[in-house]
Amino acid sequence: MAMADIIDGKAFAARLRADIAARVARLKTERGITPGLAVVLVGSDPASEIYVRNKARQTREVGMASFEHRLAAEASETGLLDLVDRLNADPAVHGILVQLPLPDQISEAAVIAAIDPEKDVDGFHVVNAGLLMTGGDGLVPCTPRGAMMLLRDRLGDLSGLRALVVGRSNIVGKPMAHLLLREHCTVTIAHSRTRDLAAECRRADILVAAVGRPEMIRGDWIKPGATVIDVGINRIPAPEKGEGRTRLVGDVAFAEALAVAGAITPVPGGVGPMTIAVLLDNTLIAACRQSGVDPATLSG
Ligand code: NAP
Repeated sequence: MAMADIIDGKAFAARLRADIAARVARLKTERGITPGLAVVLVGSDPASEIYVRNKARQTREVGMASFEHRLAAEASETGLLDLVDRLNADPAVHGILVQLPLPDQISEAAVIAAIDPEKDVDGFHVVNAGLLMTGGDGLVPCTPRGAMMLLRDRLGDLSGLRALVVGRSNIVGKPMAHLLLREHCTVTIAHSRTRDLAAECRRADILVAAVGRPEMIRGDWIKPGATVIDVGINRIPAPEKGEGRTRLVGDVAFAEALAVAGAITPVPGGVGPMTIAVLLDNTLIAACRQSGVDPATLSG
């Protein structure tokens, strides 16, 4: 039986970062501009600590300036909003990312709304969400934009393909659906109230899973030859690796899907590595726009 191709997001992300580094170098030498990304971490959630450290390291590796701001877990909303105001006004900062989740005393919506949309490299501000929905040219959330790059690379023209997005969050599911629509797919969004999810999945030429439920989507739900993008990252017990050990799995039962799909992203090593690479690309785009440089002139 033919096995699905495995879409290597790690390798794609490495190529993208190399390309970003080349464009950053041109922006520096030709225009004297060094893109800067500020990352704000409130508290010391271990997973967030790792993300923030990786973001800072990869930012420096592509030649950008990295600014890290750490606030205590008890920080007030006003304190964080003041910091966002300062970063909005700082010309060395082209992108601002406030690591989510935030502690309970701080409203995530209020913080996202305070970020200058031109510096909103996460693409979560309503202005950027609205621009995506209305066909404008704002900043697009990193994970769905990365997933779309993998799809375009694999499939080329997506026109007319039937796409199903499972999950309707503001950070993945909804922007993903709009990106697929922009590429002329026929798009369906499924969620926890969807009736007969398996039947919806079986119709999809492109299946994007962004749910957060380990291996929920089974192999026999997948249309033969479909392209499967698994955004889910779930940590589950792995007693076979030893007492108390865990492993990462996606929202799709990978081994089963391999026998049916045409191509599939693995977890880890699929969509995950794309997110930070796209964050850097968004920061470069933001730096260009804030400096009146056409990002296209940096390529080639
Ligand atoms: P989320 O905000 O929790 O949204 C989950 C969505 O899945 C919701 O829309 C929910 O429906 C839907 N859902 C839940 N149970 C379902 C079911 N039984 N059947 C169908 N739909 C169901 O999650 P998220 O932030 O979008 O993240 C989704 C997954 O992607 C997580 O595993 C997360 O870790 C991962 N992720 C990865 C990256 C990356 O690769 N860098 C980035 C972000 C997220 P309702 O709306 O009806 O509740």
